[in-house]
Amino acid sequence: MKAHDGMYIDGAWRPAAGSDTIEVLNPVDEQVVGRVPAGTAEDVDHAVRAARAALPAWAATPPTERAARLSALRDGLVARQDEIAETVTAELGSPLKFSQNVHAAVPIAVAGSYAELAATYAFEEKAGNSTVHLEPVGVVGAITPWNYPLHQIVAKVAPALAAGCTVVLKPAEDTPLVAQLFAEAVHEAGVPAGVFNLVTGLGPVAGQALAEHPDVDLVSFTGSTAVGRQIGATAGAAIKKVALELGGKSANVILPSADLAKAVNVGVANVMSNSGQTCSAWTRMLVHRDQYEEAVELAATAAAKYGDRIGPVVNAKQQARVRSYIDKGVAEGARLVAGGLESPREQGYFVSPTVFADVTPDMTIAQEEIFGPVLSILRYEDEEDALRIANGTVYGLAGAVWAGDQAEAVAFARRLETGQVDINGGRFNPLAPFGGYKQSGVGRELGTHGLSEYLQTKSLQF
Ligand code: NAP
Ligand code: MG
Repeated sequence: MKAHDGMYIDGAWRPAAGSDTIEVLNPVDEQVVGRVPAGTAEDVDHAVRAARAALPAWAATPPTERAARLSALRDGLVARQDEIAETVTAELGSPLKFSQNVHAAVPIAVAGSYAELAATYAFEEKAGNSTVHLEPVGVVGAITPWNYPLHQIVAKVAPALAAGCTVVLKPAEDTPLVAQLFAEAVHEAGVPAGVFNLVTGLGPVAGQALAEHPDVDLVSFTGSTAVGRQIGATAGAAIKKVALELGGKSANVILPSADLAKAVNVGVANVMSNSGQTCSAWTRMLVHRDQYEEAVELAATAAAKYGDRIGPVVNAKQQARVRSYIDKGVAEGARLVAGGLESPREQGYFVSPTVFADVTPDMTIAQEEIFGPVLSILRYEDEEDALRIANGTVYGLAGAVWAGDQAEAVAFARRLETGQVDINGGRFNPLAPFGGYKQSGVGRELGTHGLSEYLQTKSLQF
């Protein structure tokens, strides 16, 4: 795989301040596919200075010109889509088809949506005797995870650039190569030097330096709740804007009137996709007691068909973490009906698609985010019980409701404490705001709501 040995700062690839590097491994065969520099606080500081210096001119660039750069960036991602898919497959381990259809394709759609929004959004409003200007927040520190590595980058950088902000990105250490491809595309799109900067490195070093940098105005983070809490506290102490997209433990609620087989099969596919490493995955399936055993059988059969085709999880640590949850599920008395601790392959960080039945709401596997291909099936007595169980975690990122009648599903969805609900298998929409209720986060990404995170108002009274 192609890898740059420098940081993309102020419009060029520049040598890192230190000499440490990060080895990028392929989770399928555990082989090294590339090496990138491990950035330090010094690299972060260079990048933030470049972003600060570039801010006044970029903020003053007409939105239509910013839109033109974003449109060129989208085209650059289109031109690179094969390379992007191959790179994500190499560093994340996801099957190539999934990398093409999701990891490469979704960022193109999101970049395109912001090219359009930058051109059409009203950056000026009237309110009585005032004119309200929507101005960029300033320098953005973006910290992203590895599970949808390019999507999570584009979901932050595209709206930030559309708003007139400048950016320093610290991508996940496991997936820095696709971040470097993104930087190439930004460069070719004619985005001025310093507007976008990339510092690869470790979270507690480069990530923390970026989150703590006094000249960063807004920190946008996606990842674990533990790190998010720390970043939120740091930002709070500095009175900085912060956006946090954290974990989830979403419920897939199958009401008795639903098409059970369809709801179960789509539900299993949702959890197994990307090897279960999706923050919005419906990892708790809720089934009425009269349909429970039928659903369990359908889910077990569906899961067993996936085998190793879902790909591995991202690294050895994640594999161990997911296995420890499988252990815990068994220890707490859940019934294992598919998968388990045995890996479908000897080499690589594979975890068997796993399904637990007889999961009760208080069990660890029903409460904590596992981030692996593990589905828990819970039994409910009636609708009120289903609602209580669905809302009974600290999270509130996503969910699904299935019913014979759309209105019935919508009525139930409106009572869920969660930011996104798919009705009878509704499709992902890159224009819909994405983000969490409760401890799933603060702020929203995508569409106009995602853009407004990067804007602040200035009111002029006349
Ligand atoms: P993580 O540590 O929170 O990683 C997210 C990003 O934050 C990475 O770029 C990471 O760098 C960086 N980071 C880590 N420590 C930091 C610090 N002290 N200050 C600033 N930045 C820091 O998540 P993870 O270790 O990759 O995954 C752990 C768990 O998080 C998963 O099992 C899952 O439950 C959850 N997760 C959620 C999402 C989501 O989309 N909501 C995504 C990924 C993970 P490094 O890459 O160097 O660690
Ligand atoms: Mg980490």
